[in-house]
Amino acid sequence: YETIDIEHNRKDELATLSLTFNEMMEQLEQNFVKQEQFVSNASHELKTPLTVIESYASLLNRRGFDNKEVSNEAIKAILMESSRMRVMIEQMLQAAKYRENGDIQFVYVSIQKIVEETLSQMKQAYNRKFQLTGDLSVDAYTNEAKLKQLLFILLDNARKYSEHEIIVSIQEENNYVTISVQDFGEGIDVKYLPYLFERFYRIDEGRSRKMGGTGLGLAIAKEIVVSLHGEIKIESERGIGTSFIIHLPKSDNLINF
Ligand code: ADP
Repeated sequence: YETIDIEHNRKDELATLSLTFNEMMEQLEQNFVKQEQFVSNASHELKTPLTVIESYASLLNRRGFDNKEVSNEAIKAILMESSRMRVMIEQMLQAAKYRENGDIQFVYVSIQKIVEETLSQMKQAYNRKFQLTGDLSVDAYTNEAKLKQLLFILLDNARKYSEHEIIVSIQEENNYVTISVQDFGEGIDVKYLPYLFERFYRIDEGRSRKMGGTGLGLAIAKEIVVSLHGEIKIESERGIGTSFIIHLPKSDNLINF
């Protein structure tokens, strides 16, 4: 009887092993397809500004030497498209390398200070109104640079896709701190919400492109939130506005467990 049992056990083990192996292969294949997609999307995105640069350089070459108006226009376009390309490349590099970056320094910092510094940076760059409300005395165990980068992405979107005041609020809830960035802009149709954090996803290609968007901002935002052991959610309604809500752990025992 024992031999039969052993046989059975072996078969079970083999079946489990082969299942695990199949799952691993599927995962690898999926990752590979994702990488391929990333490279193909990235090349496609970079081609657009490059084509604009090429055509303006050729215009400059043909008619720019004795026509001040043409040369001014061409140089302006070339500078604008190159700086767009630079932003894109920086974002792509960041989106591609985020996963492997496991070693992040956490310290206790004032959330109010981080938000205020980011807001003052935004105010300098754009002439927009921001309001800060909520529990302003909360400290959290987090990474300052990453949190600033995350807020910057959300505030930059709020600024791009709305025209009114933008409200940032900080709330303390048990072990978590909640930071929300609320705008009163065009809002997002609920059917698009599940895709927003995907790389290169844009709702209105044309409009988003015109705003200088790459479709990578929210994908990077999501990676940052995960690296900070937090969560991010969207609440939005067409014609009313959008809120991005971040929950971050407040204390070190939620991160160093
Ligand atoms: P992009 O660089 O195009 O802004 P993101 O990944 O940051 O890329 O955002 C993806 C898309 O989500 C945007 O193209 C835009 O359509 C939509 N979106 C993001 N934030 C907002 C917002 N605050 N209000 C309305 N739409 C938004």
